[in-house]
Amino acid sequence: MDCKEALQRIHEHLDGNLKQAEVLKLKSHLDQCEHCNQLFIELERTEALVKSMPRYSAPDELTDRIMNALPQTPGRRLGLSWLRRHPAISVASIFLIVMVASFLALWNQDTELMVKGSDLDQVVIEGDTVLIPTGTTYNGNLVVRGGNVKIDGDVEGNITIVDGSYQMASTAHISGQIQEIDQALSWLWYKVNEFFSMFAQ
Ligand SMILES: [Zn+2]
Repeated sequence: MDCKEALQRIHEHLDGNLKQAEVLKLKSHLDQCEHCNQLFIELERTEALVKSMPRYSAPDELTDRIMNALPQTPGRRLGLSWLRRHPAISVASIFLIVMVASFLALWNQDTELMVKGSDLDQVVIEGDTVLIPTGTTYNGNLVVRGGNVKIDGDVEGNITIVDGSYQMASTAHISGQIQEIDQALSWLWYKVNEFFSMFAQ
């Protein structure tokens, strides 16, 4: 078996379409060929990742839009097999698809106030207003979605406000930045950055 045939067999194997005798032949090639073996491991990993993806409820139209945005060969729809044949970008694409889809599912469902931060004890929530009272110091970053932020005290960190507004008292002090995000896309971008910054730490 040469490498070209091996690649073909690998795809068939991952599709579950390979007979036992053929599997053994493939395995013996993989034992001898580091290049194909490496590829096999990569593809298997991608496969596992695809299967482990959460069953999100992305609207069909959205899924189509994402798929259309990805490069594709004329007349052929992108799918699992396409991703499998492009292992190098698979993980990134899948990540993006999952991200966009789960984000939009979330975006559509969840319009209530969301407050995220590391020091929420310092925060007072009144209706859809998040208040950092005078004389308190909030340590860390704060993310508020779908509400208003009123800053009377001090913030040692950044504030991100999504689909909302903020008021800042003249006595207030923020060591970081205030970022306002109004667009779904900006929010997605923010999430993507957040995701990648996890690896940068
Ligand atoms: Zn080979």
